[in-house]
Amino acid sequence: MTEHEPRAESADGFAGDPDGFQRLWTPHRMAYVGGQDKPADDAAGDGCPFCRVPGLADEGGLVVARGTVAYVVMNLYPYNSGHVLVCPYRHVADYTDLSTDETGEVAELTRTAMGVLRDVLGPAGFNIGMNQGAVAGAGIAAHLHQHLVPRWGGDSNFLPIVARSRALPELLADTRAALAAAWPVPSVRAPERMIEEC
Ligand SMILES: [Zn+2]
Repeated sequence: MTEHEPRAESADGFAGDPDGFQRLWTPHRMAYVGGQDKPADDAAGDGCPFCRVPGLADEGGLVVARGTVAYVVMNLYPYNSGHVLVCPYRHVADYTDLSTDETGEVAELTRTAMGVLRDVLGPAGFNIGMNQGAVAGAGIAAHLHQHLVPRWGGDSNFLPIVARSRALPELLADTRAALAAAWPVPSVRAPERMIEEC
């Protein structure tokens, strides 16, 4: 196989909610990301993509940014370009199970991601939300994750309805690299800055 031939990569190493849609990655002739089997159970650890991904390199796991108790990752099953997930590292299912620190950092990472997505992709709006429980649409209900989906006017079309496919104009690795490059460097803590300035 040459490097120019289509290459299928196991979905096991990535994060996302399998949703039954196929993806038509439009930059190339046609590359599909195959459906990923959902975790066999609700346990934490390697069977859960949101537990496994932080242990991978940023590029390999499509991680955009890492905080202290939460991180930002590209969704392997995006509704739109730039669809990211904000997840606590801890394997908890319910929003009320989050600690104060986790609640704060998930919110802060979501806010930063909105700014970065605006800078890089220029969306006209966003959908932000968490599906709590499989009955509410969570593909991987056992590990909480917040969706942040950029929206553009006219970004919805007939493909999802008649072909169960979504067209994505940019590959995930390219979007991840652009978002990570635009992610702000954590600011210097105030006391250290004061010491430097004195
Ligand atoms: Zn997990």
